[in-house]
Amino acid sequence: MFIDGRWTESQSEETIKVINPADEQVFATVPRATREEVKHALEAAQSAQKKWEDISPVRRAKYLFSIADLIRRDRERLARILTSEQGKPLYESRLEVEGAAQNFEFYAEYARRIEGDVLPSDYDHQTIMILKLPIGVVASITPWNFPSATVARKLAPALITGNAVVTKPSSNTPLSTIELVKLADEAGLPRGVLNVVTGSGSEVGEELVTNNITGLITMTGSTEAGKKIMENASGHVAKVLLELGGKAPLIVWNDADMEWALKCAVWARFWNCGQTCICAERMYLDREIKEKFLSAFAKSVKALRIGEPQSPGTDLGPMVSQNERKTAEDFVQRARDEGDKIIVGGSEPSRMKKGYFYEPTVIETTNQKSSLIQEEIFGPVVPVMEVDNFDTAIEYANDSIYGLASYVFTKDNGRVFKAMHRIKFGECYVNQVGPEQLQGAHTGFRQTGIGAEGSKYGLECYTQLKTCYLDWSDNPSLPYLFPYRGK
Ligand code: NAP
Repeated sequence: MFIDGRWTESQSEETIKVINPADEQVFATVPRATREEVKHALEAAQSAQKKWEDISPVRRAKYLFSIADLIRRDRERLARILTSEQGKPLYESRLEVEGAAQNFEFYAEYARRIEGDVLPSDYDHQTIMILKLPIGVVASITPWNFPSATVARKLAPALITGNAVVTKPSSNTPLSTIELVKLADEAGLPRGVLNVVTGSGSEVGEELVTNNITGLITMTGSTEAGKKIMENASGHVAKVLLELGGKAPLIVWNDADMEWALKCAVWARFWNCGQTCICAERMYLDREIKEKFLSAFAKSVKALRIGEPQSPGTDLGPMVSQNERKTAEDFVQRARDEGDKIIVGGSEPSRMKKGYFYEPTVIETTNQKSSLIQEEIFGPVVPVMEVDNFDTAIEYANDSIYGLASYVFTKDNGRVFKAMHRIKFGECYVNQVGPEQLQGAHTGFRQTGIGAEGSKYGLECYTQLKTCYLDWSDNPSLPYLFPYRGK
């Protein structure tokens, strides 16, 4: 752990094992922080933040640019560590690490644009100014599916706006964050401005959330954990920025470019082995093209190459853990029990002797209310449903507690605009797929969370508004200051 500018073990001497999901071997351990150590990290951040906010954003940006350079210098090493702890194919890890560098650059470039407002007053010789100040100490809590990019997307806007941070990675994938913090240290970030503590959400995470020092909790993860965090944060009314679960619908209509829609649909569901919050988690196909599209889709899915994620030529690595694979298996079993048709996959690949691998699986269903359609699967399993009306497809798409990403494939402008306005999801990919881009706001409707990441809107979430009322007249007066006094 890195607390107050020093690398440290935990007093508890308890550790967390980091397992390579491709071979099930423990290859690293990290400390399990005590609550006292988390408090110490928060106090260090609180003390460092006072000086950090006095440094001009342009000078703060220099550290962020250096971190981006160092990430690029170490890109290959970082990508290999990421793949070892998370299981995604190496080419995806390289993209993610580059994405982490870009986040630091993107927000460093905002140094001269943390803009407030200057407004006229209702009274003579007065000015109103709205400032955007740092919140103070930010607790960052991240998931395992993008262990490098999600933390970068939190650290960069938090730091450029003058906050200090204590960050806690997922217990499944702590190494990518630790490596990033090492680079921040190498970049010379002042002591205490960035700290990393490792441990479980229920202990280390809870201490970060409930401690009075924390001004903002920025968390990416499941809706279930997000709700608990909101509840715990309410004790001291800490601000929360929550990027939670998704259940992205993908609609293909009869006028779409079928070949392109097919390629996109395979990527949208199966990149990162289906473990992406914006992954297409259910497909709605126009009845007219369903048979043809589904059979071509099944063929493409079968052709995906499952394998050792460090090897070139692998499309799909393992799932991150045995638990996550078990969840995917349970979904498939329930679908079988309910009489849904397994078109492709549906089991562990027999050729992989070790690792948490699962076959990419396509299931045809007719039940909009089934768990496959309603619950987040977060693995390489996709339910497909036929629909005979575009409005019904939209209605089904919106029938979800989640509201992060959505996909529509059609060349009809009317349908495009309808989708843009009526599909109530925070992102709409039209004839296109993710990942999301830095300048876009990553945000969601309903139980997908609160606030946004990326873009200028993401930056604003790390600032506290403050309005200053200034009087600059030689003979100040206000008509309402007890007008009858002394009369
Ligand atoms: P998770 O189980 O909710 O964990 C996320 C992080 O929260 C981990 O660091 C976890 O710690 C911590 N945590 C859990 N309970 C906590 C609590 N009560 N207080 C404080 N911290 C707590 O999620 P995950 O399984 O890692 O990630 C998958 C989920 O993330 C999916 O639902 C996916 O949709 C979502 N996700 C959303 C986005 C988005 O942008 N909307 C992006 C990526 C992922 P430990 O695990 O170490 O105990």
